[in-house]
Amino acid sequence: MSSKSAPEEIGESKNRLKIAIVGAGIVGATAAIALSDLPNVSVTVFESSPGPQETGAWISLSLMVLDRLINLEEVQRILYRGDHEGTYITRHWRTGQIIATAPSSAHVLDKFKQARTHRVPLHNVLLSNIPEGTIRFNHKVLDHHVTEAGVQLTFRDRPSEAFDLVVAADGLYSKFRRRYTSDKVQYKGAVAYRKVFPESQVAHIKSLHNDSSSWRKDGEVMFLSRLGLEQYGVVAIIRETPEVAAKLHWAKNTGAEGLQRLQRHFATWDPMIGQVLQTMTDIDAYPLDSAPWLEQLVRHDRIAFIGDAAHPTAGAFGVGAALGQGDSWALYRSLQQSYTGDDRNLTLPIGSQTALEKHYNLRRALELYNETRRHFLGRVWRQQGLDSVDAAYIAQAANDEAEWIRRFQDRHKNQLWMTEYDVEAAFVETLASEAHWSKEVDGEDSVTARL
Ligand SMILES: Cc1cc2nc3c(=O)[nH]c(=O)nc-3n(C[C@H](O)[C@H](O)[C@H](O)COP(=O)(O)OP(=O)(O)OC[C@H]3O[C@@H](n4cnc5c(N)ncnc54)[C@H](O)[C@@H]3O)c2cc1C
Repeated sequence: MSSKSAPEEIGESKNRLKIAIVGAGIVGATAAIALSDLPNVSVTVFESSPGPQETGAWISLSLMVLDRLINLEEVQRILYRGDHEGTYITRHWRTGQIIATAPSSAHVLDKFKQARTHRVPLHNVLLSNIPEGTIRFNHKVLDHHVTEAGVQLTFRDRPSEAFDLVVAADGLYSKFRRRYTSDKVQYKGAVAYRKVFPESQVAHIKSLHNDSSSWRKDGEVMFLSRLGLEQYGVVAIIRETPEVAAKLHWAKNTGAEGLQRLQRHFATWDPMIGQVLQTMTDIDAYPLDSAPWLEQLVRHDRIAFIGDAAHPTAGAFGVGAALGQGDSWALYRSLQQSYTGDDRNLTLPIGSQTALEKHYNLRRALELYNETRRHFLGRVWRQQGLDSVDAAYIAQAANDEAEWIRRFQDRHKNQLWMTEYDVEAAFVETLASEAHWSKEVDGEDSVTARL
């Protein structure tokens, strides 16, 4: 797939499938690259903020998906792998002893092996691969109305606009999602404190590990890692009462006071953590929120949910961005598959009297997308519940260090089914079994073989 390619021109622009993507975060940006490559489409991304947001953190990402969308070299140069080929090393919270590792499978090509980067350069690489003029910053979508002809988006101080397909990539607090679920986003009971700073700041710490390490203790974690581009990252996830969390704001700096709190919290942990914290002057806070995940990722044959808007859990397994990139690929392949290029199975175009002018079967595309993603995402959701059962079991041995380590190692799983999930393979399998699950086989009411 070529980057920055303009959509194939077929007919007049009014006959193109009009796609709106709401949100230009990491996931909306990935979707914009992918969907812009489809034939006969016009893609517009609406982003409420005035420009790319600088929220600092690190990201592990799906290199397999990015390789299909852009020149992977652009991404490789912003990545950090370090020792152990990028594998996360888990250390005992007090001694720093390695108690678990999570290596990539032997068959994984070097270029796809685990790696991490800083969110800002990743976002910039993605944005630079979106065709010019696609993103409209400062465009907050206020509401949407679905009609037979499409989806009408409304904005403050601007005329509303109609689209054939809307992709909701508006993040964890998605207004789109809450129109359909009325769910409550709730505090998860922990706050992530994060900071990225120049690597030179910690260069004097002689024993600093040349890898990505996490120190874990009963639901609390400290991550330390170099990040490439000569940056260093600190992420601490600690339990905080709702009262403390309520005083913190997403991505807001907690100043020296917040940092001192953290230093006190980690005073009994591996001294290396204290040494790194000692070099810092402040830290940002991210109170972690969560809401139930969508079981169905599409609505009205017109709206698709991707990224945190679809699976709203801050920080789950560190795969949120990778999951959203998988969504983007699945949606792209589903639309591509439903493109007829002729007058069969067409969606009704906005403002047109005829259904013969646009060349996508949206209903089929969204079914394909939903079916490709929902089983896998359901499993990830359930895994969170299983992990909290394991965490409680391990925590019961808090007063017996040897038993605590034994339980940790016994329950610690390298979740390769999640981290190395191949969304393209899943799409091909979904397509091959379409006759068994599709509503379109004999009409919606005759579905008997849902998987
Ligand atoms: C502590 C922590 C650690 C994490 N670590 C990792 C990790 O290692 N790996 C990983 O893959 N993921 C990680 N994640 C998760 C990852 O950050 C998210 O899953 C990812 O950023 C979601 O991207 P998104 O584009 O779906 O949503 P967002 O990044 O939230 O983007 C949504 C965008 O929509 C815009 N928007 C919202 N409403 C509107 C509107 N009405 N109109 C127009 N625009 C709108 C917003 O301004 C925003 O730009 C972590 C998260 C946390 C909290």
